[in-house]
Amino acid sequence: MSERVEILGVEVDAVTMAQAVERVINLIGEKNPSIVATANAEMLLRATHDDELKNILNAADLVVPDGAGTVWAARHLGKFMPERVAGFDLVQELMKIAPARDIKFFLFGSAPGIADKAKLKAESLYPGIKIVGTRNGYFKADDEPEIISQIKNSRADILLAALGVPKQEKWLAKYKDELKIPVSIGVGGTFDVMAGVVKRAPLWMQKARLEWLFRAMLQPSRAGRLIALPKFVLKVHKQKLADR
Ligand code: UDP
Repeated sequence: MSERVEILGVEVDAVTMAQAVERVINLIGEKNPSIVATANAEMLLRATHDDELKNILNAADLVVPDGAGTVWAARHLGKFMPERVAGFDLVQELMKIAPARDIKFFLFGSAPGIADKAKLKAESLYPGIKIVGTRNGYFKADDEPEIISQIKNSRADILLAALGVPKQEKWLAKYKDELKIPVSIGVGGTFDVMAGVVKRAPLWMQKARLEWLFRAMLQPSRAGRLIALPKFVLKVHKQKLADR
């Protein structure tokens, strides 16, 4: 088991990418369905005023440090955090090893057609991969029983849910026992990037910890969300003072 670092009331696992992948593989073999969350600064900030989300994250089997903000926060609090484990990258690593281990995926979420495009992309990048179902993420409450049975009957090992934060986490927590899928991961905009509708920041920007800026530039509708970052920094700083 890895150490967990408490950031703004949420326990985040201090794992490397390799450890996160290993943990997910182990979770597939466990009896009870597991939830894996990818915690970026925005999610951690939201959890400070959304108790339902906070409780879901603290009950999750694995919470990876998604984003430069999360890694910075842990280190600012004087804790060990080996590296950033971005949700998108975690999905790629899992897909890479999936054919050899016969790990099957279900892609749930994003606009109509996007999960299918992400499936095609995965099939070309990772030959032999089994994507056993897709379903878009725009639905009414009435559609849920059908979605649940579609996912359940797919017999996937990993359910990737891209409904945005906190909808995906809440949906997974509500239905995980009914779905009986071994591991569910909330993956945000991952299918959009795989489908090629949203671009990932170039590597140099990721390395300069500027992925958030790239996203805001590309999708100006998200720019308002940038206010979360200084708020996050302030709150983490307050926690540091309080922890002393
Ligand atoms: N989405 C969805 N259903 C909804 C709302 C959002 O499937 O009711 C999808 C949306 O199309 C996008 C993803 O959820 O593909 C959220 O992506 P975003 O990058 O905004 O993720 P976040 O930053 O919220 O994790």
